[in-house]
Amino acid sequence: MYLHDTICAPATVPGTGAITVIRVSGPESFALVDRIFRSSRGRLSDAAGHTVLHGTVVDPSDGEAMIDEVLVSVFRAPHSYTGEDSAEISCHASAYVAMHVLNLLCIGGARMAEPGEFTRRAFVNGKMDLAQAEAVADVISSTSSAAHRLAVSQMKGGYSQELARIREALVEVTSLLELELDFSEEDVEFADRSHLRSLLASASGRIRQLSDSFRLGNAIKCGVPVVIVGAPNTGKSTLLNALVGEERAIVSDIAGTTRDSIEEQLVLDGISFRFIDTAGLRSSNDQIESKGIERAMKMLATADIVLALVDATRSPAEAGRLLTELLSRVDDSSQQLVVLVNKMDLNKNVNDINKMVSDSGIQRNVLNISALSGEGLDALRHTLVRLVQGRLSGTSDHILVTNARHHEALRLTAHDLDAALSALDAGIPSDLVAQDLRSALHHLGTITGAVTTDEVLGEIFGRFCIGK
Ligand code: GDP
Repeated sequence: MYLHDTICAPATVPGTGAITVIRVSGPESFALVDRIFRSSRGRLSDAAGHTVLHGTVVDPSDGEAMIDEVLVSVFRAPHSYTGEDSAEISCHASAYVAMHVLNLLCIGGARMAEPGEFTRRAFVNGKMDLAQAEAVADVISSTSSAAHRLAVSQMKGGYSQELARIREALVEVTSLLELELDFSEEDVEFADRSHLRSLLASASGRIRQLSDSFRLGNAIKCGVPVVIVGAPNTGKSTLLNALVGEERAIVSDIAGTTRDSIEEQLVLDGISFRFIDTAGLRSSNDQIESKGIERAMKMLATADIVLALVDATRSPAEAGRLLTELLSRVDDSSQQLVVLVNKMDLNKNVNDINKMVSDSGIQRNVLNISALSGEGLDALRHTLVRLVQGRLSGTSDHILVTNARHHEALRLTAHDLDAALSALDAGIPSDLVAQDLRSALHHLGTITGAVTTDEVLGEIFGRFCIGK
């Protein structure tokens, strides 16, 4: 990849919508567009930045035949997305027109951009760091307001600044320790050990907090996983259908029809949820169903919210068995359990079951519903939103890690910081403590791109769609 040539690509999807935007970036942008652009307002090369020129794109090799009437926006370095001279040609959304314009630009000497190359240039030119560049992709793919909010906040750089602050403190500590090495003969300590310790402990605590926020951050970005469990025929599929409003899961009277798991996405109050209907929980001799149950158990572990469905027409003892099983599996620190007493419309054992649930120690998040009539479903929707909002408000500054690469880097950083702290406590020589800190700094630096390689950049930007 050459970062000094001029690249072009559609920034929108040609063939959809009314216009297509073709982006050109690099030192020859204006000269290349001037070759094919005619405007009564003159040449792009003479135009001021942040202006828009109206005109036509022509084919100079075909007697100046008109290709399309266009608007061209001018961005002069460094005040552009990439930090380079760049132009954006808004033409009509015909795939043919877009191809023709791109072709003419390439004949003039431009090159088709590789996926992510515009954003990669923005990163290389210091317009944004790596975490911000990755957030651009998250903003583009966000499907709910909560996910959008997180992506925008990361794109604006709050998270990067926080990491930079931690990095700065660690660089200072490391430098002090390394300075001691130069004076090792004289046995001096530049850094007061208790001050050092408290600095490292506070950095490590914050890094761990950020790392722990990944579970929620990832859930907000990809959809909060909600697993629906219950014995066969309690109404799991009916509930999923009622929530998403279409016949997605197969509803039947024959126990065990949902043999695999079914997933549906739904946005409630700006929060995206992924509802997963699992096979009924009961021991089974049927091989396929056993597999489904096995998977249900695995799914349970991945859920942030577990909806336990019990059937009001069956005995409280049966409901009790499910709840006992679930209570032993649900992890209180990261998962929330909601008990749904279904088929309340049939008005059978609702009260007895509610008493049994309460006796088993579950006081909160118990709802009577009818998946069939829709009764109680609004309360369920409210409960789901409230549970997530409760966890969101528990995050002190609304910085949530949403990126698996960052999560891994934070985990490694925390591990190194803990090693440095133990080394410090054990009175291990400062060069070894500094080694752990250097390693922590390296891992932290990979998040914002302060430390990176071409290979890593290629992998990150390669996942972008063309034109960003
Ligand atoms: P699953 O095996 O748990 O997925 O159960 P289904 O959703 O297939 O439902 C089993 C049967 O219970 C079907 O005949 C549904 O119509 C019925 N059912 C589900 N929910 C309700 C409800 O709230 N009230 C009544 N009366 N029947 C329900």
